[in-house]
Amino acid sequence: MSVRVVARIRPLLEKELDKDVVVHADRVEEGRGLTVVKIPNPKNEAEEFSFAFNSVYPQATPQEPLFTAEVAPHIKALFQGVDVTIFAYGVTGTGKTHTMRGGLRLAERGVIPRLLSNVFRRGKKLMKDTNGGTTVDVALSYYEIYNDKVYDLLEPPERRTASGLPLREKDGKTIVVGLSERSCEDLKDFERLYIEANTNRVTASTKLNAHSSRSHAILRVKVTQTTGDMVKESTASAIDLAGSEDNRRTDNGKERLVESAAINKSLFVLSQCIDAISRGDKRIPYRESKMTRILSLGQNSGITIMILNLAPIRSYHLDTLSSLNVSSRAKRI
Ligand code: ADP
Ligand code: MG
Repeated sequence: MSVRVVARIRPLLEKELDKDVVVHADRVEEGRGLTVVKIPNPKNEAEEFSFAFNSVYPQATPQEPLFTAEVAPHIKALFQGVDVTIFAYGVTGTGKTHTMRGGLRLAERGVIPRLLSNVFRRGKKLMKDTNGGTTVDVALSYYEIYNDKVYDLLEPPERRTASGLPLREKDGKTIVVGLSERSCEDLKDFERLYIEANTNRVTASTKLNAHSSRSHAILRVKVTQTTGDMVKESTASAIDLAGSEDNRRTDNGKERLVESAAINKSLFVLSQCIDAISRGDKRIPYRESKMTRILSLGQNSGITIMILNLAPIRSYHLDTLSSLNVSSRAKRI
């Protein structure tokens, strides 16, 4: 069981009028392999807080080096049967979707298409190297958790029920009952499915008067390797989390309060789990939220990577500080 918590600071956007940068990356003690993020105390700007991470990716970092350093090294483990979970955590507008999904151009592709591309390549190579003795099947599920309810994103929104999909325990694992799964052959296949699913998400959110920043989107990539009657199965999960900002400050409508409570609780449990895993605790409180329960976070020998997305400018100052405070391991030092 291992966890890495890294920070990624996004660049300033052209449209942004606020150019006052308050968040900085800094390197400390090379040997420890840690880097810090520095941010002034909003109550006393002469004082600066430092938060330590396993790694910090400053403003100019493109998609490729982040993927190569943080995700690519674990794909081998995935094929050895280890589950890999990657989260993007942060305030809305800080680059979570950019990090996970990214843009259409090759260089702009995020973690998800790069992960899939690597998995397909490795799978094909394995089948070729074993002369077909081993077959590799890649199957996708994609769902969102909104207000603590699970909705399938591979199904059209008309099929959604008010209560969402139920969970059930089976062989010590949590199963989402009725969640669809589609086999994928290659990146083209995946992209078709992914675009369609994201359209489902947008359509559903307009109907429910919700916004995609209010739900957690979870893509599950199941890799099944079959050699004779031996079957090895593992999953990579890539999660674009709901925005971590405290919406009660700006909007206290009833619906928003319900949403905020659900988001805050699940993000809190998530950070507790990451904390517990990084401390090496035996007891991980993963059963205390739907998301961590479905992911069985911290169970088995899984690898977890948390990417904390940050916007460097002053207009995000308070939200940035609170996300630094809750994102575990990113302890004040
Ligand atoms: P979130 O999903 O956290 O709400 P987005 O991924 O939508 O944030 O990012 C907000 C905006 O910032 C988008 O226009 C996105 O293209 C841009 N952006 C985020 N991160 C980067 C980056 N590393 N490089 C360039 N543009 C970025
Ligand atoms: Mg987003």
